[in-house]
Amino acid sequence: MNALRQTVSTVLGHPATSLVVLLALWFWPASADRGTVQLLSFVMLNILLAQSINLLTGVAGQISLGHAGFFAIGAYGSALLVKSAGAPVIAAILGGTVITAAVGWLLAVPAGRVKEFYLAMMTSGFGLLCFEIIKEWNDVTGGVMGLSGIASPTLKSLTILGLKIDAIDYFRILLVAAAVVLWLLRNFIQSHHGRAFFAIQASEIAAGSIGIDQAQTKRRAYAISAAIAGLAGAFYAHLVGYLGPDSFTIMRSVEVLVMAVVGGIGTIVGPVLGAVLFTFLPSKLQAFAAYQFMVYGLILMVVFLLFRKGFAGAITEPARFIQPRALRAAGLTAAGVPARIDASAAQTAEPVAATAGHQTDTAPLLEVRDLVRRFAGLVAVDGVSLALHPGRITALIGPNGSGKSTLVNVASGIYTPSSGQVVFRGKDIGGQANHAIAAQGVVRTFQDPRLVPSFTVRENVLLGAHLRYRSSMIASALRLPGVMREEQAHLIRTTEVMEVAGLSGVADQLLESLPYGYRRLTEVARAMMADPDVLMLDEPAAGLSEGELGRLAEVIRYIKSQGKSVLLIEHHMDFVNDIVDDVVVLDSGRVIYRGDMSGMRRDPAVIEAYLGIQQVAHD
Ligand code: ADP
Ligand code: MG
Repeated sequence: MNALRQTVSTVLGHPATSLVVLLALWFWPASADRGTVQLLSFVMLNILLAQSINLLTGVAGQISLGHAGFFAIGAYGSALLVKSAGAPVIAAILGGTVITAAVGWLLAVPAGRVKEFYLAMMTSGFGLLCFEIIKEWNDVTGGVMGLSGIASPTLKSLTILGLKIDAIDYFRILLVAAAVVLWLLRNFIQSHHGRAFFAIQASEIAAGSIGIDQAQTKRRAYAISAAIAGLAGAFYAHLVGYLGPDSFTIMRSVEVLVMAVVGGIGTIVGPVLGAVLFTFLPSKLQAFAAYQFMVYGLILMVVFLLFRKGFAGAITEPARFIQPRALRAAGLTAAGVPARIDASAAQTAEPVAATAGHQTDTAPLLEVRDLVRRFAGLVAVDGVSLALHPGRITALIGPNGSGKSTLVNVASGIYTPSSGQVVFRGKDIGGQANHAIAAQGVVRTFQDPRLVPSFTVRENVLLGAHLRYRSSMIASALRLPGVMREEQAHLIRTTEVMEVAGLSGVADQLLESLPYGYRRLTEVARAMMADPDVLMLDEPAAGLSEGELGRLAEVIRYIKSQGKSVLLIEHHMDFVNDIVDDVVVLDSGRVIYRGDMSGMRRDPAVIEAYLGIQQVAHD
């Protein structure tokens, strides 16, 4: 079964396969009847729709039950631009697409603030609103009577650039458009922009911690997804020549979602399979018209029992999210076995080693001053001050609930301070958004590791480089040469960081298949990729084996050797003892000790609050 999936993936991924399929589809209509040509055209439209929802829901994790709305805006937009404004068809189709993208962008403003169930409600509300507007706005949309006489091959009234377009020509236009969109999407998903979408899906907070702006990323996802659905709508208007509200009901939205999900979301192949299946199936089931929906319903009920990740998951290997060519160019084969690193390529990568060594008496990089954080009546952090110096490791110690994580959460922008300051390089950054703080060079890891489970270790670690990428979305979608070089440089650095973190052996394993220790180390490695000045690690040693602890200690020393400041929250005294320079002990949100390790072990307040218990347990 695995071998079969590998073969299918290899075949599907080969450029020759795309070419053969394209050519076959190009020539098929010549010998097909009109009904088949029409059906094939609908397959192309549905591929676009399924990809549209896949990008938003499957990739960026934002469920939508309102895609019929985008589809409608593109359709009516383009039809009206031709009919009422006299625009040429090409301009109208592009215009409809752009208008829909703008609506998607705007929808992201409210929709970006809610999740899951509430998001499903909100997007279905959007779909319903579009439907009602079409139905009621008689003067413009023709209301329930619809809009007829739209330039289309069906009415033999479609001309593009002075050429008369018949049904077969139009299908070929759709074919090329769908192929181009698929290519662009594939490139996009295998770029840092696409990976950021997955990061948002996995954890918005974790994405923010490596500098990904969640609100902006969602706006992008909505706008691009809407654009693709709008394009499909515009093509639809000129395919059928007539638009009525019935084509844009919530059933349509559900149908699109079902195509993508049953086909397999999060991949490019999946929605294509779904679109093909769900366009052909109804026409094949027509013979059993009465049972058509029963069969449909049954498929929906059993499909996920058989194929948890949709059809694509059953017949192909999980999709990957790094350009294969960049992997090869970085001296790593697609299978991930590190080959010899090409020296010239390595030179373009940023060197991992920084210059700074021990700098004990320089100004602190990050300072927390009189910080207070309240939760309702509880004061979790109660007037804490501490300073992190370059090239020094500070341990933050204290019993459970003493406010350690809260301090890091405030310093990294997840919570706003109730009062007090967080000063980084002399500037108060307290209260800024977490992605903005990360962008300035303050990065943290989480007490519960937050990674993208469907990514490999390498992909997760590479995610940490997000802030260091410069390629635009358009350059990434077009896969311009600079994009490849940039990806390659970050891949080389990823390999180096994984080597330091002891992850080389599992680089190409899916994160979800790995034991806990690897996940923690992957998260630390991801944070290292951001090359921050200040790294705050929230209990990185929890749940690690002895061997992994040793590795973690090496990693932390390595980060220190680069002149970074490290804040290390840790319970494990032996572990802390070996590596830290300074210690701050919290109890009930207050600092009860600051100094070095040996002083701490003798400090009566610390012994009373905390160490007594620990030492008994350890001796
Ligand atoms: P530590 O990391 O030292 O174990 P925390 O910082 O997680 O402690 O928690 C400190 C206190 O603040 C605890 O009493 C905890 O219940 C409370 N707390 C932390 N986060 C929140 C929150 N989001 N809402 C309410 N209370 C919180
Ligand atoms: Mg904690």
